[in-house]
Amino acid sequence: MSELEEMKKQVIKCTKCELSKTRTCSVPGKGNFLSDVIFVGEAPGRNEDKKGEPFVGVAGKKLSLALEEAGISRDAVYITNVVKCRPPNNRIPNTTERNTCQEYLKQEISIIKPKIICILGNTAFNSILGGSEITKFRGKLVQKDNQMYFLTVHPAATIYNQGLIDVLKADIVKLFDLIT
Ligand code: URA
Ligand code: SF4
Repeated sequence: MSELEEMKKQVIKCTKCELSKTRTCSVPGKGNFLSDVIFVGEAPGRNEDKKGEPFVGVAGKKLSLALEEAGISRDAVYITNVVKCRPPNNRIPNTTERNTCQEYLKQEISIIKPKIICILGNTAFNSILGGSEITKFRGKLVQKDNQMYFLTVHPAATIYNQGLIDVLKADIVKLFDLIT
């Protein structure tokens, strides 16, 4: 626990990449450090940047809804992002930013040791597993280097797409069926 708190402090004051110049607040991961599952999104958006917490805007509501559907409270899991600072105008974080920030994600994973890392959307899929076209691969469990990953769509993609919110909900129900 204290290791995670130490890492959060480093994230809060981090200036290792350019995103530190335009952010309001860094957004370290948040949640239960004993969780069997870590959710990994792309990057903080406007609301997250203001509050310093992950998934607190509209996309976050969608994620919460999907978790509720699976009977899981948000506080029971750990939620984080590939990069911890908001890219200007919510652009996709570039390779340098992702590579610079990945040390923090690696630390979160090595401290929490989740059974499954749930990848939310293409940026996390690409950054963590080198994948693309998440909609083709979503709903699948993947093993790499002794770590299990579960792939699903990004909650933000479900905002104007009722079909996709149903997909996200069904995937998250499936994910928790897999580990219980
Ligand atoms: N989108 C993300 O990828 N992460 C957040 O924290 C919020 C929106
Ligand atoms: Fe540091 Fe990551 Fe923020 Fe860049 S995005 S300043 S590496 S915490």
